[in-house]
Amino acid sequence: MEGKEMKKIAMYWGAGCGGCDVSLLSLHEKILDLLEEAEIVFWPCAMDFKYEDLEKMKDGSIDIAFYNGAIRTEENEEIAKLLRKKSKILVAYGSCATEGCVIGLANLYSREEIFDTVYLKNETTKNEDGIIPSSNDLHLPEFLPHLKTLEQVVKVDAFIPGCPPPKPVLENALEALLQGKTEFGKSVALCDECPRKDSKPEKIEINKFYRWHEKEDNGDCFLAQGIICMGPATRAGCEAECISANIPCTGCMGAVPKVREQGISMLSALASILGDMDEEKEKEIIESLQDVVGTFYKYATAKLLPEGRLKDES
Ligand code: SF4
Ligand code: SF4
Ligand code: SF4
Repeated sequence: MEGKEMKKIAMYWGAGCGGCDVSLLSLHEKILDLLEEAEIVFWPCAMDFKYEDLEKMKDGSIDIAFYNGAIRTEENEEIAKLLRKKSKILVAYGSCATEGCVIGLANLYSREEIFDTVYLKNETTKNEDGIIPSSNDLHLPEFLPHLKTLEQVVKVDAFIPGCPPPKPVLENALEALLQGKTEFGKSVALCDECPRKDSKPEKIEINKFYRWHEKEDNGDCFLAQGIICMGPATRAGCEAECISANIPCTGCMGAVPKVREQGISMLSALASILGDMDEEKEKEIIESLQDVVGTFYKYATAKLLPEGRLKDES
């Protein structure tokens, strides 16, 4: 806009599903407010930008760069370093960039196991010659041994959590960032803003935990019904988006600030609402917890296991 100093912003899509890249559109008409304050200088998914365009920019010339997706290939790593150099504020945008997200569960497996599953053992793939993509015939970015979060590669100035960042989180973050603030967001747990919080129990009496599809929802707090809901260990800010749609929280906003491990924090919340019980019952309840890593560490595995499960892989 004439006479007004516009912030230069960039958006890049690393290893992720693309949901974060389109999530800016969830701002609807507010995106017009953003465009009154900011000029997009690099967004390969939405406009025709080439990496050379980024290389040619002066160091520090981008005011705010949003990196969404994780670092899975050498190309992701290269662009992350380039964006760091070219930007004043580098933002990890979304769960993949901040914690590794669902794709970070791949850090429980070696690169060979992943390639075997995807290219050789996948029932929907016909690959009789056992071909695995390689750089012999064409240049492909190297698939790194482990998936990394943005912060594991470069210095990050601000973090916007969520898979993808829910609208209220995004609005709040953008407003703060445009004012030059890099700290924002709520520091309480999701239960605090949950419409079902009045029925959240101090203690519950159950014999097993259920996954959401295994039990009919009666409208009370999910935990009161024995249905796993990550609300007590998850940072507030999304205005309980999933719960408002009658779906328990899976924890995409990550841990409450200053809590390092969302999974341990959730297990300890469960232990406290279950209270004391005899050993047999305790065993029965623990055994009813299915897919423990996928439930309690769905989003943060890569953040917690940057070197993966296997230490001896090259
Ligand atoms: S954080 Fe979620 S929406 Fe964003 S890229 Fe990763 S998987 Fe997709
Ligand atoms: S446990 Fe889940 S349903 Fe219960 S109050 Fe917390 S966020 Fe809401
Ligand atoms: S309710 Fe939980 S899973 Fe859903 S958007 Fe909020 S933090 Fe993410």
